[in-house]
Amino acid sequence: MAAPRLFKTAGIVLKTAPLGEADLLATLISQDGSKLLAMAWGARKMNSRKMGHLDSLTRVDLDLYRGPSMYSIRQVLTLESFVVLKSRLDATARAFYLAELVDGFAVEGSPNPPLYSLFLETLRSVQDAPEDKEPILKFQLEMLRVNGFMPELYRCVECRRDVEAGRHRFVVSLGGVICTDCASKREGATPLSLPALKTLRHFHRNGDADTSRIRISPDLYEEVHAVLDRAIRYWLDREVRSRRFVVQVQRQQAWMAAERRPDHPPHSGEKPALVPRHRGRNPVPPPSRATSLHSRTSTCHSEEAPRRRI
Ligand SMILES: [Zn+2]
Repeated sequence: MAAPRLFKTAGIVLKTAPLGEADLLATLISQDGSKLLAMAWGARKMNSRKMGHLDSLTRVDLDLYRGPSMYSIRQVLTLESFVVLKSRLDATARAFYLAELVDGFAVEGSPNPPLYSLFLETLRSVQDAPEDKEPILKFQLEMLRVNGFMPELYRCVECRRDVEAGRHRFVVSLGGVICTDCASKREGATPLSLPALKTLRHFHRNGDADTSRIRISPDLYEEVHAVLDRAIRYWLDREVRSRRFVVQVQRQQAWMAAERRPDHPPHSGEKPALVPRHRGRNPVPPPSRATSLHSRTSTCHSEEAPRRRI
């Protein structure tokens, strides 16, 4: 039986792009975890009832029409606007980083419900505790896992032996940890500290757990974030452009925090500038993505790996 032409779904707006004089092309992740591109005809007219509901990072209820070549949005209502999150620049920057990853990994017509749940839960975590960075690490690792790219964290990706404490490296292209013996014969193996490996294993073992009780140092956060970011970029096969914006915001806020300290000498350097990343509604412009994801049956090791501590 043919799919109905009119149907409803919920989703989260990842980005929008203006088209023509008054129309808007919205990219969403629908509640089944598939990517959805839909036209909102006339949405940019001043009297449009769709105006305001299709801002990025808004959870919406949609009435859709399935046309021969694309979806059209007949009605849209806001379910969750994340207004608190959007009131903070640092939280907004992080949320757009999450949205860019979801946009990169989600596939049109390919349901992935855990991906939608992961994105929604992480947005709520960022909104509830904007200072906490741990949910971002959990999101990065879970993003890889729900898309079939979970890094191997327990056995050497080359010889398949258990890695010994401290005698390991990490190879993004091979999908996880490698023992030092095998690493000596391989290019691309990079150091990964033992605390960083333990942190990754913690998030792997406690994927569904609340991250509010976890606190890791800024240096450890940066190391884990960087290794996951490299893995994500490898599987996406492109840069994550919003990452740069997150770093710029962090630098500017650190500079401003230092300025406010009474014992701090006057800065000799200039305040770090934020490079404008957008025109219109999207803080991060739509990526010009020419490449697709690697095959999901590629050489990633994950679920079968024994969960052992080092
Ligand atoms: Zn090995």
